[in-house]
Amino acid sequence: MIKRGVILWSLCLLWSVVSSCGSSSAKVKSESEEESTRAGVTVPVFDADSAFNYVQKQVDFGPRVPNSAAHVACGNFIATQLEKFGAQVTNQFVDLVAFDGTLLKSRNIIGAYKPDSKKRVALFTHWDSRPWADYDPDEKNHRTPILAANDGASGVGVMLEIARQIHQVQPELGIDLIFFDAEDYGEPQFYTGPHKEESWCLGSQYWARNPHVEGYNARFGILLDMVGGKDAVFYKEGYSEKYAPDINKKVWKAAKRLGYGSLFRNEQTSPVTDDHLFVNELAQIKTIDIIPTDPSGEHSFTSTWHTLQDNMDHIDRKTLKAVGQTVLHVIYNEN
Ligand SMILES: [Zn+2]
Repeated sequence: MIKRGVILWSLCLLWSVVSSCGSSSAKVKSESEEESTRAGVTVPVFDADSAFNYVQKQVDFGPRVPNSAAHVACGNFIATQLEKFGAQVTNQFVDLVAFDGTLLKSRNIIGAYKPDSKKRVALFTHWDSRPWADYDPDEKNHRTPILAANDGASGVGVMLEIARQIHQVQPELGIDLIFFDAEDYGEPQFYTGPHKEESWCLGSQYWARNPHVEGYNARFGILLDMVGGKDAVFYKEGYSEKYAPDINKKVWKAAKRLGYGSLFRNEQTSPVTDDHLFVNELAQIKTIDIIPTDPSGEHSFTSTWHTLQDNMDHIDRKTLKAVGQTVLHVIYNEN
C-alpha cells in the first residue's frame, strides 16, 4: 500500500472551515438510530482468537514475498482453508511484471459461496507481503523483507474466520472472498530507476481486468487492509467516499451500532491507492477500503507500516474482532 498524498490532519484543518471536523454532530446520532438489524437474522459471533491464529499461521511461514517458498506455502494454506470451509475455490496463477521487470509468480485466490446466486457481496484483501522494510527507522533494514502481520496477514486472518463462519451458517447473499497477490511489490523508497505507473496492486489490477467469472459483478465490495493493528483507528478513506459513500455509511453505522464507534471514526481522510481503487475504476464494483490512519499524523497508516516492527507483537484481537464482527453484521443483513 502506498503512502497517502495528503495526511489526515491537514485535510481536517481545511474542512474545519466549512464544518466542524472531529466533533460528533446530532446528525450523526440520528443516522445510527435509524439503523436496524433485519428481522430474523442471526449474525454469527466473530471469533478473534481464531482470526489471530490464522494471522500467526501466515507469519510462521516467514515473509510471503512472491517467488519465495514461503509465498507458495501460504498460498496453498489459504486455498486449502477455503476448501475446508466449503467455498468453491478458483486460483488465478499469473506472471505479473514488477516495476523493475521482475516476473512475479502470482496467485489470486477466490473462495465463492453460493456461486450461482446473482446477488453477491465481495470481500477483498491482499495476502502477499512487502519485500522491503523501506520505512524502517533503521536504514540498514530497508532491504529486509517484513513479516507483515498487519499489512497482509491480518486481512487474510479476518477473511478466513469469516469463511469459517459462513461454512456454518450461510448469509442470504452469495459471498466472494478474494485474496489478491502482488499488492505490496511497489517501488521502494531507495529505487532510483525509471518510474512505472501503478507499480502497486498488481494482483487486483489483473483481477479487475480478468475477473475469475466472466462478467462478474457484485452489489458492493469491502477491502480489508491492515485490520489487526494495536490502537487502530479507521476513517472514511477518500476513494471509498468518492465511489461508494453509501457503503461507507452502511459499514460505519454497523460498527457504531456494535459499539466500535471509537475505532470507526465518522470523518473522511485523503485517498489511498489501494486494491479498491482498481476494483472501482476497472471492474466498476463500488468498493470501500477499511484501512487505518495514524491520528498522530506522523505516519500515513501506522508506526509499524513497512517496518520490521510489523510483527505479531503489534496485532490486537480487539481490532480483528471489531472489523470482523462489523463485516459479518453487514453481510448477514443484506438481502
Ligand atoms: Zn503495504
